[in-house]
Amino acid sequence: MTPQITADAPAIHGGRPLFSSPVRFIKPTLPLLKRVLRSYRPVYHSGLITNAALVSRLEESAAEVLGTTHCVAVSSCTSGLALTLKALGLRGEVILPSFTFFATGHAVLWNNLTPVFADCDPATWTLDAASVKARITERTCAILAVHLYGNPCNVEALADVASQHGLKLIFDAAHAFGSMHNRRPVGQFGDAEVFSLSPTKLLVAGEGGLVSTDDAVLARRLRAARNYGDLGAYDPELLGLNARMSEFNAALALAGLPMTDLKITRHNEIARLYTSGLADLPGLGFQRVLPNDVSTYKDYSVLVDAAGFGLSRDRLAEALLAENIVTKKYFSPPLHSQTLFRPFYRGDHPVPNTDLAAGTVLSLPIYESLPDETVEKISYAIRRLATSRSELSKATAGVSR
Ligand SMILES: *Cc1c(COP(=O)(O)O)cnc(C)c1O
Repeated sequence: MTPQITADAPAIHGGRPLFSSPVRFIKPTLPLLKRVLRSYRPVYHSGLITNAALVSRLEESAAEVLGTTHCVAVSSCTSGLALTLKALGLRGEVILPSFTFFATGHAVLWNNLTPVFADCDPATWTLDAASVKARITERTCAILAVHLYGNPCNVEALADVASQHGLKLIFDAAHAFGSMHNRRPVGQFGDAEVFSLSPTKLLVAGEGGLVSTDDAVLARRLRAARNYGDLGAYDPELLGLNARMSEFNAALALAGLPMTDLKITRHNEIARLYTSGLADLPGLGFQRVLPNDVSTYKDYSVLVDAAGFGLSRDRLAEALLAENIVTKKYFSPPLHSQTLFRPFYRGDHPVPNTDLAAGTVLSLPIYESLPDETVEKISYAIRRLATSRSELSKATAGVSR
């Protein structure tokens, strides 16, 4: 027996899709082009189109917003992370989460450093300080933590472990421009924090990154590192890259900077709307943001426990796609399960919370221009799938797995 086909049936069971055209997963809100061109046009005519006046202005503005002494603009967060590890002169093992985007791990491998994967906290999904501590050896040189989806790490716990063992502490803050921890802006913590300005993040330069630090020596080395390691002597101080930011990218980010507060407010509204629409469903897990913290909610994800919810994460994703709702699995598979990083994973140091999170995570559409009605309809689609399975499991054996 197959489920009855009615207008109210989920699309995956033959009903009409809730949306007639695809709901995009992400859509950046860019500043008015005329605003961007107002600052870029004179620069273009001056001929100084890379790492010049607008880049300096972006660095100053960002340092002011973040409340840090130094901000160094680079070509991407990936190059910023790689150059930060290089400029700190690290050697040996770096402890990092496995539940992150692979660029976090690339920065480690590009420096011939050994990645050591630690577990995430089951509630906040950010790097667990106790798991880090358990992996420290005499070769450990640094901790590279990630403010996942913009949710600030447990900074104090990580800083304690770092200072007890004389380790550097770096944050991959790719998602976290505008996040607050204990009422202080992310950007002020650790030895350095590295932001991404690529189009899937909230502050967009097109391509770009920002390294914030209070360490003047590190800032100076980063300014050299992004320019082949050279600060003008034509004799590189260290091995660098061309990782400069172009003026156009800086113009875009400068015009976007005043929009970030509103974007974060809207992302938080959408997150609240999703959570209130889904909180009472069985089998769903939500990311915990600490009371004095603000997440940017760069992404909004839930964990789908197949037994409790009645559908697996993958089956739920398929069912939502049938409704024309595009979702992602950020970040799955976790790094230690990817070809590039698997050789560094040690079976005697398992990461069960990471396996669970990455194995069940589903990220829902979230961006400023996503209307409330769409968010409510997506929540409805998920609710309907959760409640329809009790009838369906009677009709179709095995559908609940
Ligand atoms: C996007 C992202 C990066 C890389 O940022 P780019 O600016 O694209 O290099 C690094 N880490 C995390 C966690 C990211 O999501």
